[in-house]
Amino acid sequence: MIFNPKMECMPREDMHKLQSERLCKIVKYCYERVPFYKKKMDRLGLSPDDIKSIDDIVKLPFTTKTDLRDEYPFGLQAVPMSEVRRIHASSGTTGKPVVATYTDHDIEMWSEGVARVMSCANVGKGDVIQVSYGYGLFTGGLGAHDGANKVGAIQLPTSAGNSEKQIMLMQDFGSTVLACTPSYALHLAERIEQSDKVDINNMKLRVGFFGAEPWTEGMRKELESKLHIKAFDIYGLTEMSGPGVGGECEEQNGTHLWEDMFYPEIINPDTLEPCAHGEFGELVFTSLCKEAMPIIRYRTRDLTRLIYEPCKCGRTAVRMDKILGRSDDMLIVRGVNVFPSTIEAILTEFPVFTPQYFITVDRKNNEDMFDLDVELRNEFFSPNPSKQMPFIKPLYDRIVSVVGIKPNIHIKEPNSIARSIGKAKHVNDKRNFHR
Ligand code: ADP
Ligand code: ZN
Repeated sequence: MIFNPKMECMPREDMHKLQSERLCKIVKYCYERVPFYKKKMDRLGLSPDDIKSIDDIVKLPFTTKTDLRDEYPFGLQAVPMSEVRRIHASSGTTGKPVVATYTDHDIEMWSEGVARVMSCANVGKGDVIQVSYGYGLFTGGLGAHDGANKVGAIQLPTSAGNSEKQIMLMQDFGSTVLACTPSYALHLAERIEQSDKVDINNMKLRVGFFGAEPWTEGMRKELESKLHIKAFDIYGLTEMSGPGVGGECEEQNGTHLWEDMFYPEIINPDTLEPCAHGEFGELVFTSLCKEAMPIIRYRTRDLTRLIYEPCKCGRTAVRMDKILGRSDDMLIVRGVNVFPSTIEAILTEFPVFTPQYFITVDRKNNEDMFDLDVELRNEFFSPNPSKQMPFIKPLYDRIVSVVGIKPNIHIKEPNSIARSIGKAKHVNDKRNFHR
């Protein structure tokens, strides 16, 4: 089902026109209402009248996470506080969080984004959507919740954590849809598998909406087979609103971005120049119709590429390839770039391993060390190191050939690598302490 055929299937020339109209309007709006934007544009000698179409977007300055932190909490807000209905903030592990504020219209628009994603999977009336994203300042919980409301589904706001109860309710209430991070979905799937009280065959789950962190095709297969669902990717970020900036259709050949609301660009993060069509680079978004806190050319640090070919589903909305990771999550080990998600992708090629892993990077004798903890599936595990060797060798060889670094692989007991109820933490880079 297509939630908003007019927007999702708009001919590209019409979309170009709509984006142009919206960009001109939002730039003028920001210039007049937010001193931060006025200052930045004045410095470049740019006036809102210089922006005549969406193609002029490249003239505009970027906005970075540091800008948002500097303007904490409400410096980028374009409306008086009395117009604001909701405040969210992203996790921001260090320092001040990044704040997002919303008017009624913004919440409406945000939930429409999520509703479009849910409709991609034909989720709607009668579906019980178990929202196991955290509720709170994090946009995951309430974002999915409002989207579920918009498609007319039944909202089951379990939030994240308390897995035993999650599973009990999933069974007793007949949840048909699970919405959470892929790592938490995997954790729930493992717990269901290990339990003798519940049987996945007696559950009604049929769809999963997983996002908020990168995940691989291997993880999709794992979740689909363990939970008996079709798993859909949902993408978003607090700075644009939250989850539902885009999502996968049933073709699952990329994430459709709702570009009538969020205009995507791909730039080269070093030169800041636009990339050629189809090239990988950093994703940049402009919110085209947000009222409370519109953001112009926000550098997401997410690395991906855009696909403009039409999709078989009938939507014309541009698609985004799976996100490799954030540029700031990329590890440089002995001069080699490593994305944690590549390790997940490799691990899931090996049926003997679970997709759980943890990377520790350290520096010893002026050399980077890359330690990788992995888990064998129960049926293959033996505490005897000599019995582990035959499993380690092929994994080691594959990592050397794909990634180009030599890992120290450690096989851990089943279930011993820490599970996450939200966004997983896969890396401890101890070098940061030595520098
Ligand atoms: P934080 O920056 O604190 O993690 P957010 O919750 O706003 O705050 O996170 C947004 C980020 O999460 C995105 O920029 C992206 O890096 C990641 N993300 C969200 N959804 C996905 C997804 N489906 N696939 C990969 N990464 C995702
Ligand atoms: Zn499609």
